[in-house]
Amino acid sequence: MSHADSPQYARFRQEVREWIETTVPPSVKRQPLGIFTGPGMSREQVAPLEAALAKKGWLAPSWPKRYGGAEFDTMQMVILDEEMALAGIPPYRNLQGITMVGPILMRFGTEEQKQRFLPPTLNRKIIWAQGYSEPGAGSDLASLALRAEPIEGGFRLNGQKIWTSRAHFADWIFLLARTDPAARPKQNGISFLLVDRHSPGITIRPIVTIDGHHHFNETFYENVFVPRENLVGEMNKGWTVAKALLGYERFTTSLANPHYIATAIGNLRRAAREAPLGGPGALWDDPALRRQVAQLEMDAESLALTRMRYLAQVARGLNPGPETMLLKLYGSELVQRLVALHQQALGPLGVLWEGAPFPRETVELGAFSANVPSVTIAGGTSEVHRNVIAKRVLGLPDEGKPARP
Ligand SMILES: Cc1cc2nc3c(=O)[nH]c(=O)nc-3n(C[C@H](O)[C@H](O)[C@H](O)COP(=O)(O)OP(=O)(O)OC[C@H]3O[C@@H](n4cnc5c(N)ncnc54)[C@H](O)[C@@H]3O)c2cc1C
Repeated sequence: MSHADSPQYARFRQEVREWIETTVPPSVKRQPLGIFTGPGMSREQVAPLEAALAKKGWLAPSWPKRYGGAEFDTMQMVILDEEMALAGIPPYRNLQGITMVGPILMRFGTEEQKQRFLPPTLNRKIIWAQGYSEPGAGSDLASLALRAEPIEGGFRLNGQKIWTSRAHFADWIFLLARTDPAARPKQNGISFLLVDRHSPGITIRPIVTIDGHHHFNETFYENVFVPRENLVGEMNKGWTVAKALLGYERFTTSLANPHYIATAIGNLRRAAREAPLGGPGALWDDPALRRQVAQLEMDAESLALTRMRYLAQVARGLNPGPETMLLKLYGSELVQRLVALHQQALGPLGVLWEGAPFPRETVELGAFSANVPSVTIAGGTSEVHRNVIAKRVLGLPDEGKPARP
């Protein structure tokens, strides 16, 4: 099924397509699927793409023009993401910088903070990491314990963060810290701070995942001094800033991107056509497998249509609200089902990504198998998404409280 753009957006899509074809270097196209949610591209790999984006003025597509952005609306962002996925280009942006802390600084930062941090964030002279999660605070983020004691001229930090993605590449970390431990409820007494990653007292310890990648880190803070001017928003009101930042997680996530899912299904089909059945013929000759693939294709189409429905609301100037959480929930679980079917169909070959008797495109879903469990955890777990959808979309009662009218 094809979904037609309005004439205005069709022109924009054509512009993006031509730009990708003529200007984006081939070295960043047709990247393996696993890179989309796995390690991402290295700073060196991404450099030629950034140069092309900078030349076009698209380094920060959603930022206002006065801060060097392209001021794209949501539909344009979606089209750019779709066309990039179609060309096999993974999400390239300095995500934490461009889509998280940048918009936060524009909204809550002082003029001095905007001048100091926005230009180098745009040009990737500052790479950011996100210091939210702690060993005792993930889904229940407000339980965070990292202490920022107010002292003369700033704060003294003591405590730990965990799962800090790519902190070892980062120049700065934005984090949540407890500035008033006595405050109740626990959401009060939290502040949002910008921390130079090279400050004395910070230790970064790698967590190497089962796929052999170093993406995560534990970060430890021991008497780290953070100057007062690095506080964003009011002291003890960081929860408001933190929630706004989570709201910037757009529903253009690659996991709900129809082109990404279609590529993954194409991989599964190709693998099934090439893998032997055990006797004569290929796996694809098995009608049970073909039925399961067809089911996944129908589910992917439902997801694409649901996404279009929300996009149509956005195009009419409406805010689709928490309903968009369905896209991340359904998209991430669909990708997991796809990889599970790939493994089930191919047996031991389904977990190979090196040395398999197939071309790279055929086995790349296997490469994805090691990090695919994380997609229903990152950016909020499926369970937490279901809780929010139950309460805020379906209006179901919350722990003994009456249902929403
Ligand atoms: C790929 C990836 C990248 C990440 N990057 C970062 C990063 O850069 N910075 C950062 O700060 N964090 C990052 N995280 C951490 C992520 O935000 C947390 O893993 C996530 O919020 C879940 O927290 P947790 O791991 O502590 O699990 P927990 O919150 O301890 O959850 C454990 C289990 O209990 C369930 N559960 C918890 N509460 C409820 C409830 N109320 N109802 C029902 N079930 C519940 C969960 O769904 C889960 O199954 C990343 C995680 C991943 C996977």
